[in-house]
Amino acid sequence: MAFVNTNFTKVSESYLFVEVARRIKAYQEAHPEAKIIRMGIGDVTRPIVPAVIEALHKAVDEMGTADGFRGYGPEQGYAFLREAICNYDFKQRGIDIQPDEIFVSDGAKSDCGNIGDILGQQNVIAVTDPVYPVYVDTNVMGGRAGDFDGIRYSRICYMPCTQENGFVPTLPSQHVDVIYLCFPNNPTGTTLTKSQLKVWVDYALREKSIILFDAAYEAFITEDDVPHSIYEIEGARQCAIEFRSFSKTAGFTGLRCGFTVVPKELVAYTEEGKAVALNRLWNRRQSTKFNGTPYIVQRAAEAVYSPEGRAQIMANIAYYRENARLMKQTFESIGIPAFGGVNSPYVWIRTPLDSWQFFDRLLDECHVVGTPGVGFGPSGQGYFRLTAFATHEATREAMERIKKWKL
Ligand SMILES: *Cc1c(COP(=O)(O)O)cnc(C)c1O
Repeated sequence: MAFVNTNFTKVSESYLFVEVARRIKAYQEAHPEAKIIRMGIGDVTRPIVPAVIEALHKAVDEMGTADGFRGYGPEQGYAFLREAICNYDFKQRGIDIQPDEIFVSDGAKSDCGNIGDILGQQNVIAVTDPVYPVYVDTNVMGGRAGDFDGIRYSRICYMPCTQENGFVPTLPSQHVDVIYLCFPNNPTGTTLTKSQLKVWVDYALREKSIILFDAAYEAFITEDDVPHSIYEIEGARQCAIEFRSFSKTAGFTGLRCGFTVVPKELVAYTEEGKAVALNRLWNRRQSTKFNGTPYIVQRAAEAVYSPEGRAQIMANIAYYRENARLMKQTFESIGIPAFGGVNSPYVWIRTPLDSWQFFDRLLDECHVVGTPGVGFGPSGQGYFRLTAFATHEATREAMERIKKWKL
């Protein structure tokens, strides 16, 4: 008899997007004439920029020549990409990160999930609430979450982020070992300043905890006091792992490339209190279970850092940012508080209704679709997420409808 890993049976059904799709389908069938605008999508829509496409073509052609062919590459990523990352994302911001602390991958979702492989099962996990569901579900699979009561898992520490605390999580009153922080945040679109993030770095150093910092939306930051990397904070090399992705930065959601930073100083402990370096452990994990990101994709990622590449991707980000600005302004103009949108493609609105009631009314009366905040965690109740990834035309049309809306 083969036994199943019962941790996987404890993962709650991802009811959110299934239910959203079901309600849209039912509505469209009942109202075939309704022109529905979708602002719930968490995927980018602008095509990949020319500099990246050119690098891809060149790499594809190389693979068809005897000299240019590449087979298995280094599991950690090619030196050309690790050096480009080091230089542009860290050195130029005055941050000390070396190429051998960077691990190139097929995206941040895999890394956020896989990192649990090298962390003990006894760790107490803290997440912000609302939260990117991957952090919770992968810890359920890893046996760290305890039991689900229909709302929360018993062993996970939830840190509410609401309008009342300015979407800044407060330090937990219990000791926690591993803390997931995602800033700029999905779903709220809000950020932490350097001094607000320093509170967490200081906590982690004091408690010998580890921060798993997801910086997938770093490229959307516009404000000066918002850190692009946790390593801008003193002491973070001793307590933090950082996840980055080319998905939202450069439209790689389909191409797939990201990377994880594990500093050499970072350690976790055995039950006996012996310190173990996580850079070596992650290297061992990756070399054993992962055979590298495709060469052509790494060449494409490298092109994101060329002067042309940078200018082109920043133009796409500016395109989304303009949508976010218009969305935030529109909701504020009708008296609905709206957050995020400044350093993020997400606008998080505080609805006068329950999240799902707001979803139904927005769909029925404006033919606009977003994502109910409660789907991201109990503290998301009464909130609603809209994304800036639609076209300018669709976004303008949606906002015109909302301006005339009598909620
Ligand atoms: C989109 C997103 C990512 C990126 O995932 P990839 O696997 O790199 O596409 C990571 N974290 C958060 C919070 C996201 O929203």
